[in-house]
Amino acid sequence: MKYQQLDTQIWAGHSSIWSTTHTILGREMGVVVDSPVTPGELAALATRTRPALVVTTHADWDHLLGPMAFPGADLAIEHRTATRLTREFTTIADEMHVWDNANHTLERQLPDWSSAQVVVAPATLQSPCGALTLYSTPGHTEDGIAIEIADSGVVIVGDYISPCEIPQIGPTTGGAHYLAALTTIDRLINQAEWIIPGHGWPLTATQARVILHEDREYVRAVLAGDDPRLPRCADDDSQQLTHQRNLAAARSV
Ligand SMILES: [Zn+2]
Repeated sequence: MKYQQLDTQIWAGHSSIWSTTHTILGREMGVVVDSPVTPGELAALATRTRPALVVTTHADWDHLLGPMAFPGADLAIEHRTATRLTREFTTIADEMHVWDNANHTLERQLPDWSSAQVVVAPATLQSPCGALTLYSTPGHTEDGIAIEIADSGVVIVGDYISPCEIPQIGPTTGGAHYLAALTTIDRLINQAEWIIPGHGWPLTATQARVILHEDREYVRAVLAGDDPRLPRCADDDSQQLTHQRNLAAARSV
């Protein structure tokens, strides 16, 4: 697991699995957004910081594991994430178990987020590291938020504009929502110095703009019924599979 320091109190970490990112705000009584994936990475995270608050950008299991590292921390989620966790908890947990079994990980339970503070985006969360402004960005999934960290120039965007994945359009949300989320993120990039995608590594605003433009063109083409070239990673079988799912999602919504 690697870390990059973006500010005196902000570090972006990324997992060895899918380059899933998490963000640390402050070493003591701060905030952790999203999570690494493996038990070893979660144990390593627990030695780096002691947050007062753990937040997730959306309810895909690889972003939900923070409470494993910080069992006593308060939790906060956006209300669509709360709805998804209530409705799909068993399905999401099963997806983690399937991955854990395939990767010989010891039995573990998906953290229970039912005690989390639920907020409705757009919303501002106060934190010891300053205000966090949450923006709703459904499209990759039915839930999803981007988080702007006040006075830092850092924006966390969840599973959008990844430098190592193509867009994943949610099968029940569709490309129109995805494009709307990109518009929200585009606006946030204009105020930002660093952008942390859910998978990959921190991007400068210039890098983020290039990826956002490529992803927007790709999603527009999929929505128009075309079969566009992948914006990146075209030689990766898993990204080709995602592409086929995107074409199916565009047809079904
Ligand atoms: Zn993800």
